[in-house]
Amino acid sequence: MSTAAHCAVTKCKITVYNKPPGVTFHSCPTNNDMRTKWLQALKNKCSILDWSKSKICSRHFENKYFDSQRRLSENAIPNIFYDVAPQSAMNNSPLTKPKTKVDKILGKMTQTEIIADVKNCRSRLKEPNVDNYVSDTLKCKNDTPLEVRLWLEIKKQEHLNARLTQQISQNKKHIDMLQKNLDRSTQSKREMQQNIDNMKYIVKCLQEKHATLEEQIEILTAVEAR
Ligand SMILES: [Zn+2]
Repeated sequence: MSTAAHCAVTKCKITVYNKPPGVTFHSCPTNNDMRTKWLQALKNKCSILDWSKSKICSRHFENKYFDSQRRLSENAIPNIFYDVAPQSAMNNSPLTKPKTKVDKILGKMTQTEIIADVKNCRSRLKEPNVDNYVSDTLKCKNDTPLEVRLWLEIKKQEHLNARLTQQISQNKKHIDMLQKNLDRSTQSKREMQQNIDNMKYIVKCLQEKHATLEEQIEILTAVEAR
């Protein structure tokens, strides 16, 4: 993937090949002052930023930075970064696109409410023996009733949910551990800094002592020379 053909902003999917009409590409500024401002603005926004080659598309600049010829002014700083969700998973999620009546109602319910509702409904349903209808590879036998097929899907979803929940708690533990490590590093960095300060103080004292000694030697030499 060539850096010049794609907008350098990671979440932006614009390339020279797919760009909508009117979108332009802009090189990074060469002057030092602007360079600092751009680096600040683009912090964490680009996974690769090759200063001489990377280009930023016009979508990340406010309109005020363009003249009537759509030329970018010299003081322009990219500052528009829409959080574009990845095309695939998010777009299909009922959370992002509540289409049906059920989706809308579910979207308004809290997690606890949904869980309670599911439990309540489950307790009133009679679960068939799904085991009798599936093969060892989880395929339904031909005579499997629709109800059993649906129960099988529910069971799969339950397993996925359980795994996700497990994953979340593992991630939480991981984050806690990282936080602790960070705290420890910060603490040892502080101690190290204190040590350095102490050392510097000792060096300064020694230098002063050394200077005094040199002065005394000079005086003594002068006295002897007389
Ligand atoms: Zn872009």
